[in-house]
Amino acid sequence: MPFLPFALPEIGDEEIAEVVDTLKSGWVTTGPKAKRFEADFAAFLGDASLQCISVNSATAGLHLALEALGIGPGDEVITTTHTFTATAEVVRYLGADVKLVDCDPVTLNIDPAAVEAAIGPRTRAIVPVHFAGRAADMARLLAIAQRHGLKVVEDAAHALPTTCGGALVGTLASDATVFSFYANKTITTGEGGMLVTRDAALAARARVMRLHGISRDAFDRFSAQVPSWYYEIVAPGFKYNLTDIAAALGIHQLRRANDFQRKREHLVACYAQALQGLPLQLPAGPAPGDVHAWHLYVVRLAEGAPLGRDRLIEALYAQGIGCSVHYIPLHQQPYWRDRYGLRPGQFPNSQRAYERMLSLPLYTRMTQSDVERVAGALKAALLPL
Ligand SMILES: *Cc1c(COP(=O)(O)O)cnc(C)c1O
Repeated sequence: MPFLPFALPEIGDEEIAEVVDTLKSGWVTTGPKAKRFEADFAAFLGDASLQCISVNSATAGLHLALEALGIGPGDEVITTTHTFTATAEVVRYLGADVKLVDCDPVTLNIDPAAVEAAIGPRTRAIVPVHFAGRAADMARLLAIAQRHGLKVVEDAAHALPTTCGGALVGTLASDATVFSFYANKTITTGEGGMLVTRDAALAARARVMRLHGISRDAFDRFSAQVPSWYYEIVAPGFKYNLTDIAAALGIHQLRRANDFQRKREHLVACYAQALQGLPLQLPAGPAPGDVHAWHLYVVRLAEGAPLGRDRLIEALYAQGIGCSVHYIPLHQQPYWRDRYGLRPGQFPNSQRAYERMLSLPLYTRMTQSDVERVAGALKAALLPL
């Protein structure tokens, strides 16, 4: 049997034709396609008050958002330990400190009660992550932020398309939301991201800092409508612009985002059916009436399973099935552990989930029989005859 990878992008003929068109156009870096992708993204979110700023990664977008909000040395930003290091590292880029808190034991999203308990005199912002594509408890988090005068930047790397209380993530009342188009995310540009905000000052600052601190972007500088050669450097900015080659992919991936979500949702229903009776805790679904992006399908070994997580992953690999773990919690990573003197006992929900969890393959190019194959391998490992 061929190897079933953990993740695979779905790139179609339209994406390929658009990239070829870009390559032949003579304009390969940030230009008309990046602008179109930004406009299409705003239309997708369906809210004319939003500004969409394309960037070359979600990490870049998170960095730009927190920079524009003025986060710096002496400040503290609260986020979840149950995430990828990018969520937290950008806080350190700015010389501020990270306060990691535990997650909810069911959804694995940041626990609002833990956030509230962690607020101190230096706290400036909260960065929730919509883990696996299931919305965090934004109503409570936004209320806490408002009560304490804190900024909120959503790490929506998993959350396209996700809804929260019926509204698309990206349109909620936070200060900024950042999506990822990394290779394994729900839509991809290879590398890429989108910073979304309603805050005009934040948007203006992020646009400048996205490209070297230049006061207008390359498209404006080199297009005919503006005198071309003059520019001003107003800050030591970054190199975070999205290329037109990448944006060409994004334009067509975005059009397919809802179809992709429905396909993954169907595969999730197939998993739920096929995994019945196995000693596994299946992932939390969305809140009633909401859309789960289903970027990840994370199962946990139940009490009394006949083997541990590491051996189960080995057994799946031996059957030609790739899987992963989301995440090794940040409190276990040497940098974060040692910098803040963290111990697993401070994060019991994340720690316990980590020890028993694995992420099964879930992507649009999978078929129902791929799901059944994964379920069969799990059954052979977990219910030995
Ligand atoms: C992928 C990911 C990121 C980083 O996205 P990039 O586009 O690769 O920079 C940040 N946070 C989370 C939770 C992610 O999964």
